[in-house]
Amino acid sequence: MYLQDNAEAIVPIKGFIENSLIEWEGKIVSIIFLPTCNLRCHYCHAPHLIQTPDELESIPFNVVIDKIRHNRGWVDGVVVSGGEPTSHRRLDVFIQVLKETGVAVRLDTNGTNPYVLRDLINRNLLDCVAMDIKAPLYKERYEQVSGVPCNIEDVKESIRIIMGSDIEYEFRTTVCPSQLDGNDIENIAKIIQGAGRYILQSFKPNHCLDTKMLGVMPYPVETLREFAKNASRYVNYCCVRGEEGNVLHRSW
Ligand code: SF4
Repeated sequence: MYLQDNAEAIVPIKGFIENSLIEWEGKIVSIIFLPTCNLRCHYCHAPHLIQTPDELESIPFNVVIDKIRHNRGWVDGVVVSGGEPTSHRRLDVFIQVLKETGVAVRLDTNGTNPYVLRDLINRNLLDCVAMDIKAPLYKERYEQVSGVPCNIEDVKESIRIIMGSDIEYEFRTTVCPSQLDGNDIENIAKIIQGAGRYILQSFKPNHCLDTKMLGVMPYPVETLREFAKNASRYVNYCCVRGEEGNVLHRSW
């Protein structure tokens, strides 16, 4: 009870989806959205969470945890998303309470906080990690996409931690035509060579943090498939988000 009482005070919940069949492949999950983020990706679809989170009403932690407990018979897991969940200093306490309900927990992260990530994995608090890789791992390119100064070494370290762990994971990249091309995707795939799963997400021109992005046309899905096919030469599995059934296996 101590943890539950404190989890609410230290990690405000700004969004909750009770069940989703598509968020974590093979699982029925609830999704929790936490506020704030240290990045400012131009295409971010959650500007309300990262710019004005205090204007959003918080959902009481007890309400969320009671729903998760109530659904325990048919909901397999909880996805902790954002914003950037590792922005919250006591995320570990929060996740510990979720784990105590008996569901699996996935963390969605931008990978800029390897210390928190390592700690959560080492303490067996995570069953899965989904990490965004914004761009090829060159400082200037990364900062173009993420909109703020970045420590590339932290992102690299998060990749190493995830690939060195024995938990389920997924790397993912949002592919926006004004920011990334096929060479960039190949470059990222080389960095995560041997990774189990790499998903390409189409940029969508709606609710973007930077309103200039609203005028950018997404890549046709055929182009994204070509990027995925090329990336699959380096990773074990690559596809376009939404086409997970069409497995592209490594061809080397
Ligand atoms: S898209 Fe970028 S700015 Fe938005 S929550 Fe994710 S990492 Fe943060």
